[in-house]
Order: sequence, then structure tokens, then C-alpha cells
Amino acid sequence: MTFVPQYSLAPLALTGGGVDRGGEDRRKQGWLDSALERGSTRLLAVVGGKTLVLDDALAAPELGAPGVRAGLAEATVLVWLGRVDGVDGAAGVDWVAAQFVQEPQWWARASAGGATPVGLRGAAELSRTDAALLTQAVAVLNWHSVTSFCSRCGAPNEVVDAGWVRRCTAQGTDHFPRTDPAVIVLVTDAHDRVLLGANAAWGGDRFSMLAGFVEPGESLEEAVIREVGEESGVSLDAPRYLGSQPWPLPASLMVAFHAMALSTHTVPDGQEIVATRWFTRDELASEVAAGSIGVPGGVSVAGAMLRAWFGGELPTPATSKEARK
Ligand SMILES: [Zn+2]
Repeated sequence: MTFVPQYSLAPLALTGGGVDRGGEDRRKQGWLDSALERGSTRLLAVVGGKTLVLDDALAAPELGAPGVRAGLAEATVLVWLGRVDGVDGAAGVDWVAAQFVQEPQWWARASAGGATPVGLRGAAELSRTDAALLTQAVAVLNWHSVTSFCSRCGAPNEVVDAGWVRRCTAQGTDHFPRTDPAVIVLVTDAHDRVLLGANAAWGGDRFSMLAGFVEPGESLEEAVIREVGEESGVSLDAPRYLGSQPWPLPASLMVAFHAMALSTHTVPDGQEIVATRWFTRDELASEVAAGSIGVPGGVSVAGAMLRAWFGGELPTPATSKEARK
């Protein structure tokens, strides 16, 4: 019998934030409005997928701060994210996300104070709770940005349930935030080499795990086998679940698997994947160190999977082809 290595992922970035989403509360009439009345409510403003960060923490002002509540008039949508417990038993604080097309006036003041715009890819330095709030905000706001109209009849949708439902103004159909599952696969062979692919979109010298969207009517495991087959020609034994990470750019949920290869001859699809290669740990380390290839890093699940297989951090690249997050 083949030895099947057991890989496990450390708690993934962008997960485990412990935000109380108050799924029942947010359906109550006026729930968002009462949160907006409280001066202690924190406002997570999002402009172009980014929010302000200062000293590795969200620079989310309280609504009671000068000019913040007044600036809400410019927001295109508001969503109650939930409640975060205070420190040492202090009362929980409400968090509200707001989408802005242009920076609200107070944003310039915060920027002058040293705050900088950060998106999900830059969330590595944030606390788990702050990263989770940003992930949740970006995810639900991205959904709002493509759900202005009813997908059944084309009438405008209104925002209800504190931002968690869009309701058709003509027929009352409710539309809920959606998430698109995608699988990402750590493929290893009998020698514990890893299979990586170079995506055409990344320039051909950056290698990562094979991945793809789950199709309608397909199980996660079927998607794993199909995607790896399409992109590399490699057939797989039964995939084993490793973990998941929200990746709302714009709406993905990455579901990670490990699978043993039943064949090692690779045939890249030539469209999406321009090269596929098997790497030993030594081969990968030396190529990364030499800067001849790039690999994923940062907050992405792909980086976490590669580190789990490698057994730690990969060497620092000599040149600039390092983890382009
Ligand atoms: Zn409708």
C-alpha cells in the first residue's frame, strides 16, 4: 500500500476572527439604524476593495467621531457586520461596513495621520478579528455591487435585513449573498514530490497549486479530479479535505484538498496552465532561492499549502520574482 502523507494547515489567514454575525438579530426591524445611532459603532469604510489601516490595525473610526456619521450620506450601501467583544468583559462593539465610490472627507484626515489603504492581500499584519472583518466587508460589498437589480425580473432590488438581503421591489423575491466555491489541490506523488502549475496569467514563471471553480452539479471531490486532470493530465486518488479560506476577490471560497497522483506524466492544458512540473523540496527551495521561479506566499491558502508540504517557510528569493501575492 502506498504511504499517504498527512498534511494539515495551520489556522488559515482571514479565518477565525470570532465576529458575532448576529444572524437572528440582523433580521430585526431597524437593527442597522439603531447601530448607526450609537456613537461607539465602528465604521469600516471600503473604497475600491481597500480600507484604511494604521499600525497593523483597522483605522475604522467610531461613528461619533467628527464628520464620520455625516459622511454616511455618500455611502452606496451599508451592512451591519456584527459585534466584536470588548477586552476584559467590556461591552461588545457593533461594526458597520460602508461602500464608498470616493473617499469620504474624514479619510483624508486619517491618511494625513499615517493611515494607508489596504486590501485583503495586505491583511497579513492584521489581527485575526480585523482581517475577518475586512474579509467579510469586502465579500458582502462585492456582492452588493453586482446585485442592484433582480436576476429574475430586472426590477431594482432594495437592501433589507441590515444589508444581508436584497429584495426585489416588484415581486418581493429575496436575493442572498452568494459565494463561489473553488477547489485548490496539493498533489503529491509516491516520492512526495509536489505538482505545481504555471498560470499564463502570471507570466509563466510563477508556480502554484492547481485550482479551479466547482461547476454546477458537481461535488468538491469531482471538481478536484476534473480540474487537475484538465490542467495537468494527472489522474488522482481520492482527495482528502485540508481546509478552507474565504477569498472574496470577488466571491470565492477556496476549498483545499490533498490528493495522491496515480500518474505522473503531465500535459499542461496550454491555455490556462502553460507549464506543469514536479518538484522535490530541494529543487523547489533552490529555484526559489535563485529567483528563477516564484511561488505563492502571504495570506493565500496556496502559500499555506506549500508551506505545509515543504515543512516550513521557503527560502527568500535572491531576486524580485518572489511571492507576488
Ligand atoms: Zn424581481
